[in-house]
Amino acid sequence: MGRTDYLDRLNEKQKEAAMHTEGPLLILAGAGSGKTSTMTCRIAYIIRELGVSPYNILAVTFTNKAAGEMRDRVEELIGEGTNMWILTFHSACLRILRYHAEVLGYGRDFAVYDPTDQKSVIKGICGELNIDTKKFNPNYFLGLISKCKENRISPERYLEEFGSDYKEQMVQSVYERYQQILKKNNAMDFDDLLVNTVELFEKDETVLLKYQNRFQYIMADEYQDTNMIQYTFVRMLADARDEWGNVRNNICVVGDDDQCIYEWRGADIRNILEFEKDFPGAEVVKLEQNYRSSANILAAAHSVIEHNKDRKRKKLWTDAENGNKIIYQRLEDERDEAYYIAGEINRLAGGRYKDFAILYRTNAQSRTFEEALSRREIPYRVLGGLRYYDRKEIKDIMCYLRLVQNRADDVALSRIINEPKRGIGSKSIEKLKDQAARQGRSMFELLKDPEVLSQFGNKQSVALDEFARLIERYSAEKENMKISDMYDGLIVYSGYLKALEDQKTVEAESRMQNLMEFKSVIYDYEKEEPDMTLAEFMERIALLADVDNHDADENAVVLMTLHSAKGLEFPCVFMPGMEDGLFPGWRAFDRPDGLDEERRLCYVGITRAKERLWMTGAETRTLYGKTDYTRESQFLRELDKKLIEGDGIYEKKETKVSGAFTDGAFEEKAFRPFDQLKYARQQTKQKAAAMEKARTESFEVGDNVRHPKFGEGRVIECGNGTIRVEFADETRKLALGFASIEKV
Ligand code: ATP
Ligand code: MG
Repeated sequence: MGRTDYLDRLNEKQKEAAMHTEGPLLILAGAGSGKTSTMTCRIAYIIRELGVSPYNILAVTFTNKAAGEMRDRVEELIGEGTNMWILTFHSACLRILRYHAEVLGYGRDFAVYDPTDQKSVIKGICGELNIDTKKFNPNYFLGLISKCKENRISPERYLEEFGSDYKEQMVQSVYERYQQILKKNNAMDFDDLLVNTVELFEKDETVLLKYQNRFQYIMADEYQDTNMIQYTFVRMLADARDEWGNVRNNICVVGDDDQCIYEWRGADIRNILEFEKDFPGAEVVKLEQNYRSSANILAAAHSVIEHNKDRKRKKLWTDAENGNKIIYQRLEDERDEAYYIAGEINRLAGGRYKDFAILYRTNAQSRTFEEALSRREIPYRVLGGLRYYDRKEIKDIMCYLRLVQNRADDVALSRIINEPKRGIGSKSIEKLKDQAARQGRSMFELLKDPEVLSQFGNKQSVALDEFARLIERYSAEKENMKISDMYDGLIVYSGYLKALEDQKTVEAESRMQNLMEFKSVIYDYEKEEPDMTLAEFMERIALLADVDNHDADENAVVLMTLHSAKGLEFPCVFMPGMEDGLFPGWRAFDRPDGLDEERRLCYVGITRAKERLWMTGAETRTLYGKTDYTRESQFLRELDKKLIEGDGIYEKKETKVSGAFTDGAFEEKAFRPFDQLKYARQQTKQKAAAMEKARTESFEVGDNVRHPKFGEGRVIECGNGTIRVEFADETRKLALGFASIEKV
């Protein structure tokens, strides 16, 4: 059969694992020992040597970035592109639910609510139930609801589980109402994706069988971080029977118990430790050589993790050189820390910025690094945190698209009904909401009701009517339009772009930049998949969690949390904020295993580094607006002193830069030149205008036309504002004025 030289790159143990393809397999090994690489080769082996279709393989992991990297590696190994399912748990479930959501009483176009949407639902409920949100933060409820879903405790069973004192009753009613509202809005939150998929499998055996038959080979990376639901999901899929009734169990999981960092979100380390019990006859492969890090870095990682109790003793070896020692610096405050790091990168990078990563404990730390790096004109990317997709204008415009996609989405509607200003105050929005709830209709439906519109003043009702028509029109044509065209039309004809232009402020300018930047996001997707539907596009964006806008090819320093760095590697790594209270965080002491989990996170951080590692701290730190003196992190005290260079005392060599930065202002300076922006805006308007003009254009039967999505065709029928066109392999009825249809 095919060439197997890719197997020759593996060591004996790894090769054994890659070629063990039938029956359960566990690869349990420390960081950087080639677990993910082995799994990737195993997929290639199954496809190339066993002749299995990629269609029959499922590989799941935790971040979109890890999934993307794995897919690239597999495609490289098998020498061709593939649309096989190498996905995050959430995306895999979402794909399944898109086909079968009706079984559970959802429409197929259901929306996926992100934390901001969830919060606004909870806020609404608190208002309804007279709960003081100053006393009970919406996040409090969301945390509990998520815990319930992870453990599959329904609102009905809530009181049974947790008792029924006053507080529990309140949580229960919030939870119950929350589920009702999501269902009514035809929406699921992230936890629902998993819970509902498992429920779907339980409810409809033919669906389960379908996927069991399809996925003959199942793989899960980072298995140590699976929670109960994720475990149930893979378990059910692997539980397929062959024609003689034997369980197939072709499941391969890889992981490292020392890297379990999601216990606080329900990850259960037992899933990996008890794999052999769950899947009798499991083959267990342990890998012992670390290929990633220099010997000093590896030793440092061990010296820290060894302080964890109850840990399976395992130690990796390496034949790499000792390499540099770990550099430790303690600076005066967090700004000095950031300038020190920027200075080190400047000194060593020689233009290779992408070799550097700054991995911090909390997103709130990122701002100071952004500031210091941009002062030095060092390109960087922040992954996760309040960045691109969390920005107001991006959220707004996403809600326009969401509403076009699913008009029952009241949360999206509430967000944009007065964005740009249409004179609709929050009272009116509440009133509409109430009315919708009472009548069991969506808010959007109400807007089409003349009686409802008559409640508003003349100006408002005209604006609302226009708004509703706009959404309706795009909604009707969503299958026929390119997403980028739709986007242009929406931001122009909703008045959103104009409202920003009229403001003439730096802030509005930077918001426009972001809106234009969003077009490049859309273009990128369209380039890759020209036939992508709006629903598919929305899915991708909705799932862009933490690590996603990271483009490996971009030459920029990477900033992200330690959590999202799991599975990744970089030549040079900085771990700032090595202070008690920040890392380990105070919260760690609330839970019995909390400190151990933080220590595992520290192990994850250290083992991301291939060649160089810096740890830094600040004498005083301001976080969340409060300044405190700090103490060196316990983990530093645990780390073998022989491996550390520098005594943590750093003499300030830089002058501090004063003055505050606003987010928008400094970004503008750092990255996007103004003229490009002007050009992009012009294009958007031209496109929108061309589409609008096409509405009045007259076509005749027999005209030859070109459609941006379907190509060339011939008009075979003309109706009122519509034409029917015969394309190469289909005929389509098109409304005029949406796609830029040209005569040829
Ligand atoms: P983590 O626990 O961090 O997820 P991992 O066990 O999945 O790590 P990989 O990311 O697969 O490890 O591999 C770590 C590094 O070691 C990669 O750069 C990979 O290319 C390299 N590597 C893996 N196996 C070998 C090998 N047999 N020979 C040389 N290099 C290898
Ligand atoms: Mg890995």
